[in-house]
Amino acid sequence: MIQVEHITKIYDGQRALDDVSFTAKEGEVVGLLGPNGAGKSTLMKILTCYIPPTEGEASVCGHSIYEEPLAVRREIGYLPEHNPLYTDMYVREFLRFAAGVYGMKHCNDRVEDMIKLVGLTPESNKRIGQLSKGYRQRVGLAQALIHDPKVLILDEPTTGLDPNQLEEIRAVIKNAGRDKVVLLSTHIMQEVEAMCSRAIIINHGRIVSDDHLGHITSQQLTEKFHNLTL
Ligand code: ADP
Ligand code: MG
Repeated sequence: MIQVEHITKIYDGQRALDDVSFTAKEGEVVGLLGPNGAGKSTLMKILTCYIPPTEGEASVCGHSIYEEPLAVRREIGYLPEHNPLYTDMYVREFLRFAAGVYGMKHCNDRVEDMIKLVGLTPESNKRIGQLSKGYRQRVGLAQALIHDPKVLILDEPTTGLDPNQLEEIRAVIKNAGRDKVVLLSTHIMQEVEAMCSRAIIINHGRIVSDDHLGHITSQQLTEKFHNLTL
């Protein structure tokens, strides 16, 4: 579970997040939808304890970002926007290393399962540096899932994927949401419809709407999103 209470982030006088509050529970795939610069990545970096907020409180699975950052990180699988991967490493070597970071032993079967799950099998004998952007993104997703976290935080997870890769990865993300909380960011409306059960629209650091997709039509959501730029 993710709990965000009155989070504000100010960078050098600029308000990137302004009094943001929401909660998300297991089984939800929450799309954080907003234009570039809305504050999506900032919120994700706060939840993953990479940067502190200026004000407010947040917790992940009951662990406060201030008091128990290590526990917070253990609960989360995180795919950052610009994912720094070790380009010299082979795919399997890297995923075993990632598992090791979480203290997982005998992780070979788990690594093979993740390779299959994200569709990396045909490229799995390569070094990361030899992979296309789409396949690197799959490595990032496999890394985020390796320790079977309760919470997945995915910053623009489908950028760089070509159209025929999209469907496969969207299905992986949607499935992951069955027994996890997924928070993913995107600036593309269709992504939310394809993967999410809930859409939180964020603009200039503020939540401007928060809807369950069963309760709002795709046209209403599109209108809300387009109204931001007016
Ligand atoms: P999004 O992910 O929605 O595109 P970001 O969270 O990256 O938005 O950025 C929100 C705002 O905060 C932007 O105006 C951005 O320029 C600014 N910003 C982000 N990171 C920093 C930083 N480290 N220092 C100063 N300003 C930043
Ligand atoms: Mg971003």
